[in-house]
Amino acid sequence: MKKLVLFFALILAVAYFVSINKNHLKVEYISIGTQPTKALEIASFDAAAKPKNIILIIGDGTGLNQITLSRIATGGADHRLAIDQMPFFGNSLTHSYNNIYTDSAASATSWAAGIKTKNKFLSITPDGKAIPTIPEILSNKGYISGLVATSSITHATPAAFYAHIDSRYKEKEIASQLLESPIQLSLGGGLEFFDIAKAQESNLLITDMNDLDGDKFLKAKKVLGLFDEDGINRSSSKPTQLQMTKAALNWLSSKANLNSCNGFFLMSEGSQIDWASHDNDAATMVVEFKDFDQTIAMAMDFVTSNKETLLLVTADHETGGLQILSQKNDTVKVQWGTGSHTSIPVGVYAYGPGAHVFTGLMDNTDIHYMILDAIESSGLKPLVCSN
Ligand SMILES: [Zn+2]
Repeated sequence: MKKLVLFFALILAVAYFVSINKNHLKVEYISIGTQPTKALEIASFDAAAKPKNIILIIGDGTGLNQITLSRIATGGADHRLAIDQMPFFGNSLTHSYNNIYTDSAASATSWAAGIKTKNKFLSITPDGKAIPTIPEILSNKGYISGLVATSSITHATPAAFYAHIDSRYKEKEIASQLLESPIQLSLGGGLEFFDIAKAQESNLLITDMNDLDGDKFLKAKKVLGLFDEDGINRSSSKPTQLQMTKAALNWLSSKANLNSCNGFFLMSEGSQIDWASHDNDAATMVVEFKDFDQTIAMAMDFVTSNKETLLLVTADHETGGLQILSQKNDTVKVQWGTGSHTSIPVGVYAYGPGAHVFTGLMDNTDIHYMILDAIESSGLKPLVCSN
């Protein structure tokens, strides 16, 4: 009897070991792409030039290997993506307050509020004190702010820019904090978390991507665009990160002009690169990355023509422990190491006036202060730029 129990225990242990290895060492083969590089026009900026506007584009879960694999899948190892053409590059550490492992909430808090906090916390200190975020700081200094995400707009990354709460999962409360915040434009998913009647009191609420255009959209004082119940399911009837970011830039730049604001702040997140990486699904990750890279290309064109905008691109952490191992004919072999986040540094990419300081090794909290320094926020006089 004792022998039989031991035998079954051994079988169970082996099955567990095999399942762990199967899950955590998932191998995929991805085709090498053949698209030619689309060379973008890059302007040069004087070291003394100061930006008025900030665009911060986040690739959730986007480590250097997510970028490398996307490059190879698009046009091979010699291809250059839009992100590859950003002229300044550095690295950022991602750890949270008390953990080498960060989640999106603690990491987004580092840029939004300039502090390290515990995982799951949004723009509060580890002991619960609310810390003002970039849109909150700038709302009294003549700035307007907008947020774009392909997740719910109440998801961790966008939420860190307006919510102060001890759990990213309290999304209904986060939604009500958005309505009270100085964010004038929010585009993403998350319809199910909002009190719709309340939202409509102060916002033009849009749920159809065709409304991301035209007079009604451009003339609204505040816009809340919610295009899905939770995260945005990719389909031809739902807006992409590129479409929402383009609409947001159009809205923010025309409002800032019309009302003589000091400038605008826009955060746009490709949220689902992270989700595909959690699923260890390289093919879907590449699809999500493509939208993110097209968003970067469009924003780079905006910087080239606008000349007063600083564009920053970074990630909150890497997801999946993605490795690119070898080439077999016209495919590459990739292997995932985990279904969770890893602690390796992520890239920081910069283009526009003030971009040259975003090099070397940074902490994620440094990015908050470097943004405020770039626009010389401490010298801006109190001004509410209402429309
Ligand atoms: Zn994640």
